[in-house]
Amino acid sequence: MENKHSAKVAWQDICLPKAEGGLGLRDFVTWNKAMNLRLLWLLLVGSNSLWVAWNTEHRLKRTNVWATVVQSNSSWIWKNIMALRPTAKDLTTCELRDGKRASFWYDTWTSHGPLIDYVGTEGPRKLGIPITATVAEAIRTDQWSFPSARTRCQALQNLRLTLISTPIPLPSRGSDCFKWGPPSVRTPCFSTKIAWEHMRPTATKPSWAKAIWFKGHVPKHAFTFWTANLNRLPVRARLVTWGMNISPLCCLCNQQLETRDHLFLHCEYSEQLWDLLLRRLGQPSFIFQEWNTLVSWLTTASNATPAKLKLLVCQAAIYNLWRERNNRLFNQQSISPSALFSLLDRSVKDMLLARRTRKGFSRLLSRWFAHT
Ligand SMILES: [Zn+2]
Repeated sequence: MENKHSAKVAWQDICLPKAEGGLGLRDFVTWNKAMNLRLLWLLLVGSNSLWVAWNTEHRLKRTNVWATVVQSNSSWIWKNIMALRPTAKDLTTCELRDGKRASFWYDTWTSHGPLIDYVGTEGPRKLGIPITATVAEAIRTDQWSFPSARTRCQALQNLRLTLISTPIPLPSRGSDCFKWGPPSVRTPCFSTKIAWEHMRPTATKPSWAKAIWFKGHVPKHAFTFWTANLNRLPVRARLVTWGMNISPLCCLCNQQLETRDHLFLHCEYSEQLWDLLLRRLGQPSFIFQEWNTLVSWLTTASNATPAKLKLLVCQAAIYNLWRERNNRLFNQQSISPSALFSLLDRSVKDMLLARRTRKGFSRLLSRWFAHT
């Protein structure tokens, strides 16, 4: 998506979901982190794989995933996995059963989150529970080792109250059950999708997204429309600002500055095409003042023309106007607005025929021919 002159659309924006204005591509670095989180999860839940067994024996030794210190000579992959611990901490909780896997200080097994964060690093000393202890190891003679009732530490007082109402872990209750995901979607299994959703960049959903990725869109039309909508097509006015020594005049009329809005909306060539198209859509003839006017017209429901027909026709129009512009520039070929309209007419008919059995498309063909 880049060329030597300028990035057309930032990679981070492209990786946003379509509803958030991107192309829904997956950013490799984030996706890779999501995959590595799975390995961290396997270590945490103690899966039966050889990899987990080896790492538990040789790397974690007598400590746990959270407490282990990463050595500077550790492997690259191990360092990468361990660097994901803060993310994993946000996404894992433990349902306490026998307490043999859950780390007393590091796992989230009470509503306070990891107790090492809640009570502080003095916690192990104050409670006399080692930093690497499991919850089961923190039980003394079938009881919680409660913080002193006279403690002035608010966190310890709260912890005391929590423990009073928490049943002690017992072997008869089975193994501790780790859960993956934010509070709204906790599952007993790891999910790369949840990890990805948690880490990926997000943006508010722009209202124009529904003018582009509607059900039944033509990918190449939608993509050109998406790029035009972000004003990232290499129209001549932009090329000139990048320092290219070319004429800035419109390839269609050769009279005005070739900006996006001129090329697609105000050029006399485009105006003639829109005039023919709007008539066929049963709309009064009018001029789109600017790109946003076109988009808000597309996203506003009207009784005169079904939304899908408007979208299909307008995206095809923008795509074909851009193609006509490029044909003139690169192939020295040109056709009149009415010839382009005939082309569009046929192409719309073909698109509607191909989609006639899809939901919302069955009556569009007759609508397209209603104003001939
Ligand atoms: Zn023009």
